[in-house]
Amino acid sequence: MKADLPANCGACAYRPPFPLPGTLCRRHAPSPGQDEFDLVHWPKVKPTDRCGDGAALEDGTGPGVVACQACIHWHQPDGQPVKPDYRKGLPVDWWAASGYCTRRAPSPAAEDDRKVHWPVTHAADSCGDGAQVDVDTSDEVHEVPALEAAPV
Ligand code: SF4
Repeated sequence: MKADLPANCGACAYRPPFPLPGTLCRRHAPSPGQDEFDLVHWPKVKPTDRCGDGAALEDGTGPGVVACQACIHWHQPDGQPVKPDYRKGLPVDWWAASGYCTRRAPSPAAEDDRKVHWPVTHAADSCGDGAQVDVDTSDEVHEVPALEAAPV
């Protein structure tokens, strides 16, 4: 059943308070691009903004966001984080918790030899297009590293 639309972004399940700064619309996953190691930025929205893709906040059992670290679409090749030659102004710790978002397929385009690269996200990023991996029932504790803001 489709969730009710929220009155505005301030009442939307896809604008969670965490990770900070918590003012970002996390409705959609990023799409592949043409540049290697692309970082992505979720759009900033005001509490009074609104759209037709939102979902009203409920009791926690309805629509919401999934953390990249817990998402079946988050990919760390050979279990390793992304390791670019240049860190793009981000600290070593950020890259140590990085992976590729593979949620979206590339779209067809006019060029026949276009390169495709999936975007890099942090373990603590999240979005509403993600899908949770099966819950780990062991006692092992998985800590999600803090998310530092990407340069704008
Ligand atoms: S939660 Fe999943 S689909 Fe969403 S950005 Fe992270 S890896 Fe991609």
